[in-house]
Amino acid sequence: MAKNGFVFEAPEPVSIPVVDSSERFPVRRVYCVGRNYVAHVREMGGSEDRDPPIFFQKPVDSVVQDGAVVAYPTMTNDYHHEMEMFVALKSGGYNIPSAEALDHVYGYGVGFDMTRRDIQGSGRPWEIAKSFDQSCPVGPISTVESVGHISSGNIKLTVNGKATQESDLNLMIWTVPEIIANLSNFFELKAGDIILTGTPHGVGPVKTGDVLVGTIDKLAPLTIHVGSNAA
Ligand code: MN
Repeated sequence: MAKNGFVFEAPEPVSIPVVDSSERFPVRRVYCVGRNYVAHVREMGGSEDRDPPIFFQKPVDSVVQDGAVVAYPTMTNDYHHEMEMFVALKSGGYNIPSAEALDHVYGYGVGFDMTRRDIQGSGRPWEIAKSFDQSCPVGPISTVESVGHISSGNIKLTVNGKATQESDLNLMIWTVPEIIANLSNFFELKAGDIILTGTPHGVGPVKTGDVLVGTIDKLAPLTIHVGSNAA
């Protein structure tokens, strides 16, 4: 049966709650930055040069809300956490100068770039390693109005109460304005885009039953539970 002019019911728009607001942030696209902290580049066996940022996308419907149970994905035996800060944009454009980049930021939040690590190392494109179902848990957005711009501060992930990743946002290789400027050379950024800004060192495997809690100074925390196998 056709629904509102569609041949079947259209999927619900994906959105993220905003701290201290009844309104939600509608998500247009999810971008991610790879290899953006030196100690993580080192643990992955990469070079420590300041290479151009690596970008990839996750599907918008891979977004998972705070507090959710995330199924253990198919086709991996090495499902990893990557704890990251994300930036949420209220506007965009092409070729944004880094000096103007922060004018486009609506707010910041805690995100996880969940990864099939055993597939990522295959030398093939990262799509099935990074962009699978439920691969992008995100916490509520704190607005620039309420917390200002975030460029330093503790970033930490605990698994079952034990810290696995801990660093400082000021150790990013590419800063938030530089990321926005660089990404806007390749894509027209728009309101509703979020950008995960890379993970610090300490990535590692998780298993069914684990509880992941990500915290960043000044921002709302993100908790997820790893559930049983997706299929
Ligand atoms: Mn990542």
